[in-house]
Amino acid sequence: MSDQETLFKRGLTRLFESGELKVDYAGFVRAFKLQDGRLSAVLDLSPNMVDAASADQPIIKALAGTLDGVTDASIVMTAERAAAEPPKLKIGRHSDPAANRAPVPGVDRIILVGSGKGGVGKSTLTSNLAVALAGQGLRVGLLDADIYGPSQPRMMGVSERPKAGEDPNSILPLFAHGVTMMSIGLMLGESEAVVWRGPMLMGAIQQMLTQVVWGELDVLLVDLPPGTGDVQLSLAQKTVVNGAIVVSTPQDVALLDARKALNMFEKTSIPVLGLVENMSGFICPKCGEVSDIFGTGGVKAEAEKLKLPYLGALPIDISIRIAGDGGRPVALGDGAAAQAFSALADRVVELAKLDQSS
Ligand code: ADP
Repeated sequence: MSDQETLFKRGLTRLFESGELKVDYAGFVRAFKLQDGRLSAVLDLSPNMVDAASADQPIIKALAGTLDGVTDASIVMTAERAAAEPPKLKIGRHSDPAANRAPVPGVDRIILVGSGKGGVGKSTLTSNLAVALAGQGLRVGLLDADIYGPSQPRMMGVSERPKAGEDPNSILPLFAHGVTMMSIGLMLGESEAVVWRGPMLMGAIQQMLTQVVWGELDVLLVDLPPGTGDVQLSLAQKTVVNGAIVVSTPQDVALLDARKALNMFEKTSIPVLGLVENMSGFICPKCGEVSDIFGTGGVKAEAEKLKLPYLGALPIDISIRIAGDGGRPVALGDGAAAQAFSALADRVVELAKLDQSS
């Protein structure tokens, strides 16, 4: 444990003993990190501490600011709120996965973008789809919930730390390329690996949905972590999700994983809007010849087999990667790759009925 972390914890206990804090939070500190003057700490609270913690947060932040070398402090508090009253048991019925789901105020539709495994281009697709939809005049939000590898700050070209709004518990989103966005990476630092357990993840996801001042949005796209873990379940349980898009490359192994993701959406009653094939073929920039590096058509065949809509294919195109690394999604331009994303956006508008107000 670093000296600063020890001092921070001692300070918490001292403030508790002097009556300034309602709870001694020292034993709840996780993911303490101080780098370049920025302190990021996560407090993993138990549900009965939530009310006390929201009142105590400014004092904790002030304490963090007094530590040597700290110029800016971000204190994230996570906890699952306890139910106000005990659940009413209904004998002989299965639990309803759709019960207690709350919509995000002002947000018309929520669409998740998932994949069975990492590296298939899920984040690339999400940023480009967000930009393409915004280009069609829709009010678009992008929530980077890829807690293990948040890449939207880089792909959308934002690095600013989010600030609190008038309400100190609110988080002001950032804006890039016409899209309102928030990423867990912006709150904790892009290179910071945070190992979070289920309840903490649930708390973090809930905070990003409810404390971020999203404003009025036609659609909020959520970039999920790969696989079928806690974030997916939290979202399915905590909010009303209108649909999911599953991205896969054409190989059999990727498809096998994609099937697991589809299965999870089915189990959590989230309708699958469709499947997208990414890295579908490589167009040689020199001779124009198409090489099917990972094969082609596998996702379409799978969609047909499962009777799910097929949303289209995106080629392997170096301009997609360069644009993503440079923080200006390729969909902002008008080349062949941009056109492929624009066609995908049209399909999503149609299938998610984004052209009709809900
Ligand atoms: P995931 O979110 O599934 O982990 P990413 O979107 O981060 O995947 O993509 C992984 C890498 O592949 C990134 O460097 C990205 O720029 C690149 N990439 C994704 N899709 C394409 C594509 N169609 N053409 C070229 N590069 C791509």
